[in-house]
Amino acid sequence: MRLTLDPLHQWPIGLGKPFIIAGPCSAESEDQVMKVASGLAPLNVQLFRSGIWKPRTRPGAFEGVGEIGLKWMQAVKSTYLIPVTVEVANAHHVEACLKHNIDVLWIGARTAANPFAVQEIADALQGINIPVMIKNPINPDLDLWIGAIERMNNAGLTRLLAVHRGFSAYENTKYRNKPNWEIPIELKRRYPEIPMICDPSHICGKTTLLQRVSQKALDLNFDGLMIETHTDPKQALSDAQQQITAEELGNLLQNLVLRESTTSNSTILSSLEELRNIIDEADETLLKLLSRRMDIVEKIGQFKKENNITILQPERWNEIVVTRTSSAKQKDLSEDLILKIFQLIHQESIRKQTHIMNREKEEGSEIKW
Ligand code: PEP
Ligand code: MN
Repeated sequence: MRLTLDPLHQWPIGLGKPFIIAGPCSAESEDQVMKVASGLAPLNVQLFRSGIWKPRTRPGAFEGVGEIGLKWMQAVKSTYLIPVTVEVANAHHVEACLKHNIDVLWIGARTAANPFAVQEIADALQGINIPVMIKNPINPDLDLWIGAIERMNNAGLTRLLAVHRGFSAYENTKYRNKPNWEIPIELKRRYPEIPMICDPSHICGKTTLLQRVSQKALDLNFDGLMIETHTDPKQALSDAQQQITAEELGNLLQNLVLRESTTSNSTILSSLEELRNIIDEADETLLKLLSRRMDIVEKIGQFKKENNITILQPERWNEIVVTRTSSAKQKDLSEDLILKIFQLIHQESIRKQTHIMNREKEEGSEIKW
């Protein structure tokens, strides 16, 4: 389905580009929330965030201050004239936020992964066109993310933002949540109308990577950033390792290089066009070569079948990996990239040959290879 969204200028809150959302992971006390907001007031922050109900992975961690925190958010709003946003995970949270005039709601990663919870929130919001930010689900499942966005849109919500906060992985990586940039890029390709925010805090899990990930998001044409800020990050009751002070946020924002998504300069555009034409030709050559390679794969499959030889000869596969990656190195190509590409090509070759080997068996049976 297509999304029905209002253009940003029709939203009740102003969204500059880049759109900056900041505030603590959790509201801890009125004093803490107000102090963070006072630090952020001079910066170009367009939305103040904090969690009131915290979805913690394990019980016993700080689970948020609850409804009282909504009053503190109202105080931020009236003192600093910044719109405010709070995470909601069920209909009760929605009702409490609406009662306290919270400007924007957000759906967290754990909630976005649960269609029952998302539907409950959508039902509670039926007929109320409040802006809602939808984080990606914790697992790298683009359809689940799109499903959450569609549920909101079906309930009549036309002011929606997608928030990329990375995906959890079992193994340790340098990120707390792996960015898998191809997922938000694919969401944006399918739904160019939805504004995309990056949450570098939850991707990085630590402060050292924040600048780089924020810059990367902007270079990928994201519309904004959500960055957790605290007056005393080390003492924060949640996500202490990834929060920064307002001053540090100011420096981060100042160091960002803002680039245009396009240009009206015709000389630049025509040089770009020329280079893109060469890329188009190179891609066409790649496709022709791949098609020729696959034709040969089929011939080999037939030959192996007639001579009763297995599809895979591990020494041959090893030879391909070694020669192709070392040739890649000489050509200044990433060995890692070339290995991945050849693994995919090899998988497809095996699939084709498996089909050829079993063609007769398949006839008249239900088996599809
Ligand atoms: C948060 O923003 O504080 C939060 C809980 O994020 P996520 O849902 O991305 O884990
Ligand atoms: Mn957090």
